[in-house]
Amino acid sequence: MSRSQVTKYLRPSTPEEALTLLRNGGKSARYVGGGADVARTLPGDVTTLIDLCTLNLSSIEESAESIVIGATATLNEVLENRSVANVCNGVVAEMMRKVGSPLLRNMATIGGTLVSAHSWSDVIPLLLVLDAEITLYDGDSRTMGLGDLYASRERFANSILTSVMIPVSGPGDYAAFHKFSRTAYDIALLNCACYVHVEEGRCTEARIAAGGTPRLATRLPQVEAALPGEALSDETIERVAQVARDTVKTADDRRASGEYRKQLIYAGVKSCLHEIAQRLEGGQ
Ligand SMILES: Cc1cc2nc3c(=O)[nH]c(=O)nc-3n(C[C@H](O)[C@H](O)[C@H](O)COP(=O)(O)OP(=O)(O)OC[C@H]3O[C@@H](n4cnc5c(N)ncnc54)[C@H](O)[C@@H]3O)c2cc1C
Repeated sequence: MSRSQVTKYLRPSTPEEALTLLRNGGKSARYVGGGADVARTLPGDVTTLIDLCTLNLSSIEESAESIVIGATATLNEVLENRSVANVCNGVVAEMMRKVGSPLLRNMATIGGTLVSAHSWSDVIPLLLVLDAEITLYDGDSRTMGLGDLYASRERFANSILTSVMIPVSGPGDYAAFHKFSRTAYDIALLNCACYVHVEEGRCTEARIAAGGTPRLATRLPQVEAALPGEALSDETIERVAQVARDTVKTADDRRASGEYRKQLIYAGVKSCLHEIAQRLEGGQ
């Protein structure tokens, strides 16, 4: 973005107003959350920025079923929130600590992160396995699963992402996240997240996702299918990790080869499931 490019910076106070401003601005207008991406990658024809941080959408509230995170909550606000800390042994905070640097997390919003949908995003695979939903506003509000949204062609169009819902977790819910990157501040060469529900020592449900394959994170149904009915023994974990290595489609890009990524998905699934098995053993 060149400094002289943006000639209007608008601060709407309601989603309705923001939507009208975007519609009036057409191709020259763009929403901005934290601005981490907008500041780097604004198309040359955009001259108007519409700040969503003035919409009062940054609260984080817990209900009986879910934790509702307003779209303009920053990644650090999510990381530090007490309700979020209770989701599957603090896995969300554990993942957030691996997103860029504290400076970036003070700036980037959860809404901007999900809309920019980088293929190497650390946030997306974990929210997919936690079964997160999002609410979009385009004149009407509608709520849908995050996975359904990314699978749909329409994606965000002109909608405002207003909130993200993460189900509260209960006894038997476990999740883990693993990121492979060159340095602690670097983006992922590959990342993966696993969720399992365990009853009487056996998995009754599993959700596993990988990102940076190098495509956008998706759930891995063939890998998930290898877990229900099984105890998280070393043998099971080895077998599931092998299914991941053998079935997940990986490809080369300038960061890593597809072959290397196959080793990473194997190691990532293994590491997540071992972490969960250790928690189970420790009665956590
Ligand atoms: C140096 C650096 C390091 C990074 N490292 C990592 C990392 O390690 N792991 C990782 O996962 N990510 C990483 N990222 C990505 C970063 O997390 C995202 O760029 C950031 O989260 C985007 O959020 P934002 O609020 O700044 O979005 P913005 O830049 O404000 O917006 C991004 C896009 O979303 C749109 N938008 C924003 N909010 C909304 C909304 N509520 N509704 C509809 N549209 C909206 C904007 O119009 C724009 O198109 C890194 C980014 C940088 C710059």
